[in-house]
Amino acid sequence: MPSNPGLTQGIRRAVQVRGDGIAIIDGNVRISWTGFADRVARLAAAFRAKGLTTGGRVVLLALNSHHSITCFFAAMHAGGIIVPLNHRLSLDELTAQTADCAPDLIVLGPDFADLAVPLATVAHSVKAVLMTGRASAEDRGELLDDLIAAHEPIADACRGADDVACLFYTSGTTNAAKGVMLSHTNILANTANVVAPLGLDESAVHLHHGPLFHVAAGVRLFSVTHVAGTHVFLPRFVAGELIREIDRTGVTHATFVPTMLRSMLDDPAMASADLSSLRTISYGSAAMPEPLLREVMTRLPAVRFMQSYGMTELSPVATILGWEDHLPDRWDSGVLRSAGKAAMFCDVRVVGTDGEPVPNGTPGEVLVCGPNVMLGYWNRLDLSVEAMRDGWMRTGDIGVLRDDGYLFIVDRLKDMIITGGENVYSQEVENAIAAHPAVAQVAIFGRPHDHWGEAVHATVTLKPGTSASAEEIIAFTRDRLAHYKCPRTLDIRNEPMPLSGANKILKSKLKEELLARERVEG
Ligand code: ATP
Ligand code: MG
Repeated sequence: MPSNPGLTQGIRRAVQVRGDGIAIIDGNVRISWTGFADRVARLAAAFRAKGLTTGGRVVLLALNSHHSITCFFAAMHAGGIIVPLNHRLSLDELTAQTADCAPDLIVLGPDFADLAVPLATVAHSVKAVLMTGRASAEDRGELLDDLIAAHEPIADACRGADDVACLFYTSGTTNAAKGVMLSHTNILANTANVVAPLGLDESAVHLHHGPLFHVAAGVRLFSVTHVAGTHVFLPRFVAGELIREIDRTGVTHATFVPTMLRSMLDDPAMASADLSSLRTISYGSAAMPEPLLREVMTRLPAVRFMQSYGMTELSPVATILGWEDHLPDRWDSGVLRSAGKAAMFCDVRVVGTDGEPVPNGTPGEVLVCGPNVMLGYWNRLDLSVEAMRDGWMRTGDIGVLRDDGYLFIVDRLKDMIITGGENVYSQEVENAIAAHPAVAQVAIFGRPHDHWGEAVHATVTLKPGTSASAEEIIAFTRDRLAHYKCPRTLDIRNEPMPLSGANKILKSKLKEELLARERVEG
């Protein structure tokens, strides 16, 4: 069997260059690269024996663990496609996605054992349901560890570079989630884009605490493997546990969405933990409030920070704000509000409604072209065609490109509010409100208004131990923003913000709640 330029080559390389080195730390479990390669080749054999066909899907629904990464690679080694599903979805959403991707196999973590029957019966294609661990003493599901022990390793199926490697569903922030087909080449291009900016090498100890069904966390498995670093797994993001794990295992790299960084800074464990091993924190997936960024950089001055902007469809990185731009002498230059410059293998442009590039400095839709652009949406040729414009991926984001190549993401096209004929970018208003000392989180959206078409509305949560009135916060924005951009109404919310499985604030949910409340109140 010839070698291939696919993702499983990363394991062969890691075995060659760091075979005895630690590939995985998961609680008390430690596995070397040689040991990991063996487990992958055995699980691949088991997957084939259980009915996985070439190009067939393996659905994975589990918290993060060493079993998850083994499934990712074993599915590919066996010639299949991994489909990590979001365990925070409702049963209806999970059955819809399972039916959509029609898997050969389903792998469940013990926390999701009761989903075996509903998921297996929704798609006739399912040939077996396997478990990463026992849910109870009566549980008779076949365990991955037993299957790994019972099968001899098989050779890598060596799929082609342009075959689908992973199917990731989008976060479903704006609409129903879509299955995104990423090829081996797409994900390798992303690795090539991020390795240098992240400073990833053999000595990297990367913490995976973000959900692996989210593309940014999922494809990081491949980047860390390709540099033969070490993977550390936490089942899920819990701020205190994450801080203690960095201390315990000497984590050097971790990646966050902004809401997680907020919880980390607020956690009491920050006071006593030794985080001196941390070298790089990367963040992205949603707009980063500048005050939060300044706070985390001030509290962790020895860490290098890197922001990326992208989307599932771009495997996911399109632009990068490198660590040099986070150095204190750049803080007042305005670049902290930028999503950075085009990644190494990405073409980025900003176009008007006619599809033609607009002059630098003018807002328009961000388009991206490069080897990281997805093959298309699974089962949705219509949406795949709509998403592309002459070979360029339409991001649905509004951005401004500066003469020096820095891209500023202004808003999502769908989140822009038009009030009295003026465009208001929700992110600009969110940044202004986030600077209020009592505000923990904020979401801006438009509410229908008889006269203005839409009126700017804010929902905020407050930091523990602080207080502020709605009037006070609105007045605070009046000093910072043009009058028409300031919220006309503001809710202070006592419960946490509704978050998507990727920890993004679901503005659509907030808007629904607000409108439902108003209907009741008449
Ligand atoms: P859906 O497409 O299902 O509505 P989603 O767009 O949130 O969900 P993702 O692919 O996870 O799904 O997220 C991509 C989007 O996240 C981008 O289009 C952009 O709006 C936002 N985003 C990502 N990175 C950044 C960033 N660094 N700054 C601002 N926004 C970002
Ligand atoms: Mg999207």
